[in-house]
Amino acid sequence: MITVKRAFVVLVMAGLATDPSVPVRGAARMPKTQPGFYRMMLGDFEVTALNDGVVAYSIRRLLPTATADQIKSGLLENGLTDPVGLSYNAFLINTGSKLVLIDTGTGGKLDDVPEFHGAGHLMTNLRAAGYRPEDIDEIYITHQGQDHIGGLTIGKERAFPNAVIRVPESEKNMLIFLDPAKTAAFLAQAHNHADANAWLQFTRDLFQPYISAGKFQTFDEDVTLTPGIRALGTHGHTLGHTSYVVESQGQTLIVMGDLVLMGALQFSDPSLGSAFDRDPKAAAQQRLRVFKMAVDTHSWVAGGHLSFPGIGQVRFEENRYWWSPVSYTIP
Ligand SMILES: [Zn+2]
Repeated sequence: MITVKRAFVVLVMAGLATDPSVPVRGAARMPKTQPGFYRMMLGDFEVTALNDGVVAYSIRRLLPTATADQIKSGLLENGLTDPVGLSYNAFLINTGSKLVLIDTGTGGKLDDVPEFHGAGHLMTNLRAAGYRPEDIDEIYITHQGQDHIGGLTIGKERAFPNAVIRVPESEKNMLIFLDPAKTAAFLAQAHNHADANAWLQFTRDLFQPYISAGKFQTFDEDVTLTPGIRALGTHGHTLGHTSYVVESQGQTLIVMGDLVLMGALQFSDPSLGSAFDRDPKAAAQQRLRVFKMAVDTHSWVAGGHLSFPGIGQVRFEENRYWWSPVSYTIP
């Protein structure tokens, strides 16, 4: 005959009752983090996409001229709902002799701004990818977006103490603070003085530590910056927006910065400008130019805001462009 105590033990073993005298396992811990790096080889080069965060954005806010039909078909085609998660990506290129970081994420700065809230994971993901900030030799900037330059510093210190920042001459207008006359003119024409001053302070805090350390350089358009990486002026999103073409052993990757902000709609219609394009017409021309170049040369493409890892290929079929994200592979 089964005793009451024996019956209880059976229930405990079956997971149907709790015996307070028996230590129980705690609730399953949920780390609630996501690996934020993706690696692929490009010839002899190692390319690592680094995620800085993902923030929900309404399509209408990003692409104000998109029609209701375009939004509907873009969402359907990509299995998305509005608002769409906008990824913040940077790309680390290891050429074998140099470690080059293209863009730096938000640095967790401006976390009170909804567009950047929750971003700032680049450093964590850089370390998770097996590198330290002090390993970075050079930093190339696609443009002056806060989400691309914000990670240059931690507090007042250089986040990448051994790196030289190289900025396209055409985008040097982000360094207004260096020139008192330009600063005065900038403030004189600013609609909002507080915002203008905040921008000056923001850029000064980011760049001055590198300038003071002698680790700041500019370059002319479309030059080779290091063997296997050259700049490609793609102005429009900002006046000096620059892409980077990475080549090794016949394989090419075009890091196109913010030419595309919303992949779900801007591949099918490259003429759609974003609310953040300084010169929407020029940005659309450059978008089309890079799409065509990528198709013609069978290049990989990497985008600053395409769904992580933001690397893939552009196809031209049925009289329009399509985005094919990279398939998960082990390098
Ligand atoms: Zn951006």
